[in-house]
Amino acid sequence: MIGVIADPAEHDVVREFFELFKTPWEFCRKDRQYDVLLCAGEGQFDATAKLVLVYAGRKTRFDEQRKIQTPRQPMHGSAVSFRGNRIPIYGDAITFSGKESSVLIEEDSEECAAYLEESNDRVLARIGYDLFSEVRTLLTVGQPAANASMPALELHIAFLRELITGCRVRLVEIPPVPGGCQFVACLTHDVDHPAIRQHQWDHTMFGFLYRAVFGSLRRLFRGQMSAQNLFRNWAAALQLPFVHLGLAKDFWGEFDDRYLELEKGARSTFFVIPFRNQAGSGSHGPAPALRAARYGAQDLAGTIRKLATAGCEVGLHGIDVWLDSSKGHEELEEIRRLTGVSEIGVRMHWLYYNQQSASTVEAAGAAYDSTIGYNETVGYRAGTTQVYKPLAASQLLELPLHVMDTALFYPSYLNLTPHRAKVVLGPMIDNAVRYGGTLTINWHDRSLAPERLWGGCYRDLIQEMKSRDAWFSTAGQAISWFRKRRSAIFETDSMQVGKVRAQVAAGHGDYLPTLRLRVHRSRNPSQIGCRSSDDYVDMEVEETNSPAVTPEARR
Ligand SMILES: [Zn+2]
Repeated sequence: MIGVIADPAEHDVVREFFELFKTPWEFCRKDRQYDVLLCAGEGQFDATAKLVLVYAGRKTRFDEQRKIQTPRQPMHGSAVSFRGNRIPIYGDAITFSGKESSVLIEEDSEECAAYLEESNDRVLARIGYDLFSEVRTLLTVGQPAANASMPALELHIAFLRELITGCRVRLVEIPPVPGGCQFVACLTHDVDHPAIRQHQWDHTMFGFLYRAVFGSLRRLFRGQMSAQNLFRNWAAALQLPFVHLGLAKDFWGEFDDRYLELEKGARSTFFVIPFRNQAGSGSHGPAPALRAARYGAQDLAGTIRKLATAGCEVGLHGIDVWLDSSKGHEELEEIRRLTGVSEIGVRMHWLYYNQQSASTVEAAGAAYDSTIGYNETVGYRAGTTQVYKPLAASQLLELPLHVMDTALFYPSYLNLTPHRAKVVLGPMIDNAVRYGGTLTINWHDRSLAPERLWGGCYRDLIQEMKSRDAWFSTAGQAISWFRKRRSAIFETDSMQVGKVRAQVAAGHGDYLPTLRLRVHRSRNPSQIGCRSSDDYVDMEVEETNSPAVTPEARR
């Protein structure tokens, strides 16, 4: 059990952090003994626990008492390195010049950013940044695109876990890993352009012609497109007048059949726009007219029925729900009317969002949001692979968006070849396997058709995730699984030190994978940073009563 000492103003972020690092903890009570005390900032503590962790990015009374040498001013915007992984630090950070420890190294100064002090079987660890202020920054402001590739929040959890188990304390947690799988793969599709026939003499049609005729040539020379696909695009451009005359098939239509065929039973989520010709609002007045879609969900009534029958989910591709809860309510109602489903999730068109959006989307009545990601790159805006509760929301959960096709291939964004895209996505699949959580992909409705023809990369990505034991779920199912995990309760028996049970209430849906209870073995401080593969045991958490776990018995 971890006892946490933190400023009451930080209690909301502490609670959310321990939903993501799901292990027994509580705010420190004077009458209780703890294996681990986690002290943030200037909090006073009684150092009787086996391990005391002091996180602070500035010099504290604790450092003064011990006459620890620290720089006069804390650093800002630094990065530390843990087991070869960079962890960006967005708030204050300090180093400890007199200390030799290599547990955590500040990147620029190459000085020690965390050290351990051992005495009488107890360990004191001083870490030179403020954990909860970092978590707050990640879950609110998020990371700049330059740091997108770093799952910073997962790295903070991994480092804390390593400190605990490396200081001879056994640890029990419910990892963000569904039973029987390695991670959750969420395939999603923003439906922006379901028919080219709806675009006559407009920006989209001319853009298509330019990219199909000239852009394809450039992509061929850059190794981004095969000659066969170049000819497919030229043929599509020649066909366009006949599509408009109704004499040829609309090659942007039937996106539903293409995805159902390609995904073969891996149920995906389609976010559809509620009303046609509405650009909605931007942060400073009306959004650009280009944001308006030429269709409304009503036009796709047949497609919506077909997708539902195939087990796919249909969500709202929101126009104003990020800014206005009553308009958001109308948008959600339109999707409810067409799907007959009451629980509707949201992803905003053009990923419009601000700091208040989580509470606005919640007030509109959405089941979840899946907007937090980047337009211009791929990676971890909130630093996490996991579904989390934005601090501004009371119930709403966020399924972060990690990979968008347009970010990979648009010339103004990453402009990758299919081969380079694979190289960029490989480490993201590795991260999903290493840390659990989800890998959320957005492949747009028209991305399999001319002139994009991005199906090859998508097919390879799905294949790779299948071979790495992903659970393919709709966005709503992923949210339900994380809600189930959040509802799990640890029961610690204070009379029997180290005995932990975990329970989860039944009724989250039979189709959801089970939860795992993971028992990490304790190790010596000298082993911090050298993880072997067999240092934990997993077991299933039952829906009603889980087996009692006695870490002492599992040595
Ligand atoms: Zn969109």
